[in-house]
Amino acid sequence: VNEGPSRANDQNDVAVRSAVIAVGDELLLGQTVDTNGAWLGARLAELGAPVTYRSVVGDVEDDIRGEVTRARLRTEVTFVCGGLGPTPDDRTREAVAAELGIGLVVDPLLLDALEQRFKSHGFDELPPDNASQAMMPVGGLVLPNDRGTAPGLVFLSDDAFVILLPGPPREMRWVFDRHVEPLLLERLGPRLVPPTHRLIRTTGIAESVLSERIQHTLPEDLGPVGIAFLPRLTGVDIRLTVRSGSTEAVQGWLDRVEEAIAPVVERYRYDSDHGDLVESLNRELRAGSLTVSTAESCTGGLVARRLTEYAGASDVFLGGVVAYSNQSKIDLLGVDSDLLVRDGAVSEPVVRAMALGACERFGSDASIAVTGVAGPGGGTKTKPVGTVWYAARHRGHTASRVRRFPGDRSAVRERSAQAALALLYDLVIGRGGDRSTTE
Ligand code: ATP
Repeated sequence: VNEGPSRANDQNDVAVRSAVIAVGDELLLGQTVDTNGAWLGARLAELGAPVTYRSVVGDVEDDIRGEVTRARLRTEVTFVCGGLGPTPDDRTREAVAAELGIGLVVDPLLLDALEQRFKSHGFDELPPDNASQAMMPVGGLVLPNDRGTAPGLVFLSDDAFVILLPGPPREMRWVFDRHVEPLLLERLGPRLVPPTHRLIRTTGIAESVLSERIQHTLPEDLGPVGIAFLPRLTGVDIRLTVRSGSTEAVQGWLDRVEEAIAPVVERYRYDSDHGDLVESLNRELRAGSLTVSTAESCTGGLVARRLTEYAGASDVFLGGVVAYSNQSKIDLLGVDSDLLVRDGAVSEPVVRAMALGACERFGSDASIAVTGVAGPGGGTKTKPVGTVWYAARHRGHTASRVRRFPGDRSAVRERSAQAALALLYDLVIGRGGDRSTTE
């Protein structure tokens, strides 16, 4: 995330900060991905106690202890995930207790529940190793885990608030939803200020260019608004965030910044819930009772796949052709063989003929066509890898553009499909401007 021109950064004036430490050799070895950390990051941000420190350590007591201390220096609430199981390599409980100087005692209720559980699974006695799972911190809390044997534990003292959660994701999530969220609300209450976000989606402009242009239009005083630029292959989202104030005041601040950057973003903006331009495009096509078809070469059906991603696509999408060879462009789309010989398959006349051919063959009101050099081979001096011609046709008018997209084969294909969809979107909503020359 590039925080760009923001003066009030996303994490400024946060009252409560959290840390997440994931424990497990398998995480360090790359055998398991730390999805718990990502999940907790999203949930804690929503709750208003964002994660500002996160780390992964192995099943080593000293490492866990060191990490707990580091996390506590920076944050108010520390989460430690994993390593609560019954085997000797599960060290989290003991490590945290030792580091905080808080004792562990057997909780009779936990012991009883554990024994019952083992009996119901056909064991006479609790294996000795499992008894460690009945330990809880002195003065702390047990967070029951209905989905597994290791409960969550809370170490509480005047200066410590450390929450241990089981490693298996479905157990961790269950314990968090059921017990941790209410606990945080109860203990931190009004100090938790959930952020309000507003997302402005753009496509067709590079992050650096967007950030630079926006910098010039921003008011000197952004108030409590933080700005983040979130780049993807298909575009850049601008996220505005405010963490304090009444609903009215928050909306006022957001409106003010959005209005200030409107002149920069209006040519590139689209609105969609999932961040997919196709949602906006399909909405506009449906509103205009327009149908669309596709003629694709280097994108191999990607544009058609994207147009059919959401339910209701059949209202607007009639069909598409993947015409990879020259002959198929002639046979399936009616492209004139002379054009292919004279200009080559990757050329403006050919892409325009493909767009026209799609409209004619499918009887659609609109069409999208793409032909290019996705690479890694096949580039020439005049048409290097990444050169892509794309066209959109709408109510008898065809617009065509050429771009040289950066990236590997898959990136070139993704970017081509997005640019072609964006071109049709521009035509349909009557937005002018030329996207062809800037990267
Ligand atoms: P158990 O009682 O099942 O042993 P535990 O608290 O000791 O629970 P671990 O043994 O550390 O948890 O991990 C159990 C499983 O959960 C691992 O096999 C791993 O696949 C998964 N897991 C652990 N930590 C994470 C994490 N941070 N993200 C995703 N999965 C994880």
